[in-house]
Amino acid sequence: MKNHRVTKPSPPRRITILGSTGSIGRSTLDILENYNEPFEVVALTGQANVALLAEQAIKLRAKVAVIGDENMYTDLKAALAGTSVEAAAGAAAITDAASRPVDWTMAAIVGAAGLRPTLEAVRQGRTVALANKECLVCAGALFMAEVAASGATLLPVDSEHSAVFQALDNTACVGVEKIVLTASGGPFRNLTALELKSVTPQMALRHPNWSMGPKITIDSATMMNKGLEIIEAFHLFHVEAHQLEVVVHPQSIVHALVHYCDGSVLAQLSSPDMRTPIALSLAWPSRMNTPVKRLDLTAIGGLTFEAPDETRFPALRIARHALLEGGSAPVILNAANEVAVAAFLDGMLDFNGIPALVEKTLERSSDGGDREPESVDAVLAADTEARRVALEILAPITAAMAAA
Ligand code: NAD
Ligand code: MG
Repeated sequence: MKNHRVTKPSPPRRITILGSTGSIGRSTLDILENYNEPFEVVALTGQANVALLAEQAIKLRAKVAVIGDENMYTDLKAALAGTSVEAAAGAAAITDAASRPVDWTMAAIVGAAGLRPTLEAVRQGRTVALANKECLVCAGALFMAEVAASGATLLPVDSEHSAVFQALDNTACVGVEKIVLTASGGPFRNLTALELKSVTPQMALRHPNWSMGPKITIDSATMMNKGLEIIEAFHLFHVEAHQLEVVVHPQSIVHALVHYCDGSVLAQLSSPDMRTPIALSLAWPSRMNTPVKRLDLTAIGGLTFEAPDETRFPALRIARHALLEGGSAPVILNAANEVAVAAFLDGMLDFNGIPALVEKTLERSSDGGDREPESVDAVLAADTEARRVALEILAPITAAMAAA
């Protein structure tokens, strides 16, 4: 890791979970039930699910609960009436909550919306468990510079990156030839391009191995998730883009492999359950017990690997191109993908239209310049502009779909 630390930190006591109502957030709360250290919860945040946020905050006696949607403030206040939990609402309140002093923050908001709060957590100079990969895609250099400046310990939660982190054994990439991230291939691995055209959101939301939030589940089906993860790995580890590879591994048991210059390959294996990497990020540099199903290789029988098909799943190629292009390209890639996934989930774009919309937005936005935006404001301005362009390209597609 680029922010390798020598001193052994004490176990986290004060904890904040950004995005506690989501899939990773809920798995984090599950892991906290097995955490044998005394802890207090400072802040919990969610976007729209007031009932769950209030229930979590009351159960864990959080100091503050923040709902992103300001229209839900009254509901949250009512749900927390008579308790000691403070209620707050709005994007700025989430960022404020992230700045309250804690030892460990789980950054599990989905999308570019997580950038400001996650950076605020980083600026505390404590430990940030990073699930929100879009932060690194949008603002990798800036984000890692903030990590270095604050002295924060950044621990990857994404399963492949947690696997690499473990296979590197804190060696900061000494003698590494290449890093291979595995991909399940998603539910449509064996469909033809024509069959892919007619898959529905319901079909795409049924991931064969992992249970995750809707956005990343669609990203897994298009393989854009692996494209975002290549960019994420590029920023987390000391390697060049050409040293990052993807292999399709339908069983999702091997999460990543690190190839060393002496021919040795170290891999990390575990059941496909995010509670393992979450637990590692909480207990690191130690380990803690989890209720995760133990791996039984004889029951699994075989582990298979194949090359990704970038013709049927062009997202990986598009993302890699954006990484090599640099500048605003990764921000545009991410923003266009967020628009495309939302449109697909709303029935306004077909499945193959997702990578196509991302590619067209990148083409139309190519304004030259190979420097990443230098401030968060500049990143978010590029994000807003890319969303505008993507929606402009989307409008006639949606109209044609509605007319058909
Ligand atoms: P999710 O949709 O289940 O949860 C997202 C959380 O973010 C929720 O609490 C939601 O209320 C909150 N949120 C949504 N929009 C927001 C906004 N505009 N402002 C503030 N908060 C907002 O997503 P998830 O599957 O838990 O994924 C969270 C992050 O972790 C994503 O970046 C994803 O790529 C990453 N990740 C997830 C998994 C997984 O297994 N779920 C695995 C690896 C990485
Ligand atoms: Mg992953």
